Amino acid sequence: MRALQFRSARFFIGEWIMDENKEYFNVADIFGENVFNDATMRERLPKKTYQKLKETIRLGHELDVETADVVAHEMKEWAIEKGATHYTHWFQPLTGVTAEKHDSFITAPQSNGKVLMSFSGKELIKGEPDASSFPSGGLRATFEARGYTAWDPTSPAFVRQDAAGATLCIPTAFCSFTGEALDQKTPLLRSMEAINREALRLIRLFGNTTSNRVVPSVGVEQEYFIIDRENFLARKDLVYTGRTLIGAMPPKGQEMDDHSFGAIRERIGAYMRDVNRELWRLGVSAKTQHNEVAPAQHELAPIYAQANVAVDHNQLIMETLKKVAYRHGLQCLLHEKPFAGVNGSGKHNNWSLVTDDGINLLEPGSTPHENIQFLLVLVCILKAVDEHAELLRESASDVGNDFRLGADEAPPAIISVYLGEQLQDVLSQLISTGLATHSISGEKLETGVTTLPDFMKDATDRNRTSPFAFTGNKFEFRMVGSEDSVGEPNIVLNTIVAEAFSEACDVLEKADDFELAVHDLIKTIASEHERIVFNGNGYSPEWVEEAEKRGLPNITNMVDAIPALNSEKSVALFEKFGVFTKAELDSRAEIEYEIYAKKVNIEAKTMIDIIRKQIIPATIHYTTALAESINAVKAASAADVSTQTEMLTEVSALLAETRDNLRLLEEVQKEGAAMENGRDRAVYSRDHVTTAMSKLRRPVDRLEMLVDKEMWPMPSYGDMIFEV
Ligand code: ADP
Ligand code: MG
Repeated sequence: MRALQFRSARFFIGEWIMDENKEYFNVADIFGENVFNDATMRERLPKKTYQKLKETIRLGHELDVETADVVAHEMKEWAIEKGATHYTHWFQPLTGVTAEKHDSFITAPQSNGKVLMSFSGKELIKGEPDASSFPSGGLRATFEARGYTAWDPTSPAFVRQDAAGATLCIPTAFCSFTGEALDQKTPLLRSMEAINREALRLIRLFGNTTSNRVVPSVGVEQEYFIIDRENFLARKDLVYTGRTLIGAMPPKGQEMDDHSFGAIRERIGAYMRDVNRELWRLGVSAKTQHNEVAPAQHELAPIYAQANVAVDHNQLIMETLKKVAYRHGLQCLLHEKPFAGVNGSGKHNNWSLVTDDGINLLEPGSTPHENIQFLLVLVCILKAVDEHAELLRESASDVGNDFRLGADEAPPAIISVYLGEQLQDVLSQLISTGLATHSISGEKLETGVTTLPDFMKDATDRNRTSPFAFTGNKFEFRMVGSEDSVGEPNIVLNTIVAEAFSEACDVLEKADDFELAVHDLIKTIASEHERIVFNGNGYSPEWVEEAEKRGLPNITNMVDAIPALNSEKSVALFEKFGVFTKAELDSRAEIEYEIYAKKVNIEAKTMIDIIRKQIIPATIHYTTALAESINAVKAASAADVSTQTEMLTEVSALLAETRDNLRLLEEVQKEGAAMENGRDRAVYSRDHVTTAMSKLRRPVDRLEMLVDKEMWPMPSYGDMIFEV
């Protein structure tokens, strides 16, 4: 009760919540308190129901109606105790963000005029939102708007408490009337089944009879920017597009390397504290937080979880980052590149495969050369990444990420795998002799200070420039955009690795001499896919040349990446493992083209609006002031007016250039917006609209350096990223 009263008293949206920040709490007490998790279910559900549900989840079966009714009832009772008035099927359509439709628990008024609160098993398991307003890429005829949401019992329900009240959120998949996936979760769950099946086949070959499931574990590091909300509101480009479309660099950027891991400022610290607390209550294990490379940039990482939960949690993290910022008078920017000239934001998707009894298939042990199962898993992953590099690249593309991947910042657009010294050495031994006989081990690191302990170095250093790096017992896919769902990268990873496992098992299950066959196979795969391994500097121009020689694809933008989604190779892959049908893939490609064209169009229109209504008038204002000054000074004296005159000439010239470039942008924007075909429109937008925007930006950014700051109609980069 205390918690409830406290919460209702503290929601003064947009204001500092002082008592929130004064109160200290014990994390263990609040962790997961708003989650219908295992402990809650065990406590509240009848024993038989609990066991039934657990069994269903473990075996991945469907829940029967009676069990669902009991679960729904208890879930509702529990949620009402937390103040919940509504429930919602919380799902992830292809918009990149989550969607929800709220229904209250109330029944029609009884004869005594009172209402009951009810929630049936049917309502828990299945919802029926109107699907016509979500992207479907032509999957459903417009008259057939019916969509279904189905509970994913492997991702726990939770109660979200905020200014809108408390709502029971049920993580669900979202499908069309005919069962086609319209979301991120459905194919993700399908891909988890595929990798489970094939990984089990593989470990059985190595004599494992005890593990029942293999689950991809995912830990997502999330980068974001925080700026003052007033500055945000004063920038229409940020409001409409999430990034700045114009803006001159301040005298200082990130060149001093003084922000990364720097001391966290108090205002940001208070915000992070509040974010963590919200997340902990929702059972999200927020673990790491620090300042990132760019000024005003930060990172948050939770402890890894099974893939579908991690994907849900990443959505919750993004939502929470935004919502809590609002309460602190701040604005969280999740866009991949909010500010040109300083680093953008990404997401690192850490991925490994773990059995239900806790064995990580990516754990090499201290002597990886002896760990044959690990070596097979490793070369299968190399093969998967090499064969489907385009698809993996596509899974990390979104509109904002085009400003990072293949632009002048990390990571490069070329997919390669970093293995590190130790595994590289084992791999080289395997390829040259077919046999690995030793592993390089970590040496003792001497600090040279007697009071500090000496410690054993890891056998492998980090390489921050690789898009796909082995980091001890997991792979870290570093290409994902900060704003994007991690659903797709994980769908792709699970499926391509499932295929490589499946093909390996096809060979090995038939072998007479397993030992011999597995050695041969590892050597063969390693030799065939060695080209994907690159341990050097991924940012160097030499790598681009080298990669081209190796025949590795270098896809620099989203529009060029999309065809990999429904190429023949990808369709065959996804259909084989039941993850996507061709129709689903075609629709997704269509949606991606559409999203690209629409976003660029919004950016173009926003830019036109800002330049026309704010920048040009402000500049005219300034030129008028200069002209008046020249006249006034001349009238009063014979003093020198050459400074004003020079300024006036320069500013007027830039103003004319701005006007010309604006006209060009207006033309191409109209032309692009009128195009019918999604792909044509996307290609046109990339080739003509984005280039016209860059061209327009140039004189405007120079004007910002010249025009009186008092007259410039919006906060500068310096105001935004250095004054939080
Ligand atoms: P960094 O890469 O910045 O050094 P960490 O090594 O702490 O960060 O890990 C980053 C993320 O990787 C965290 O979310 C962590 O929980 C996750 N992680 C750690 N081990 C695994 C694993 N075996 N499988 C998947 N994710 C993991
Ligand atoms: Mg990392």
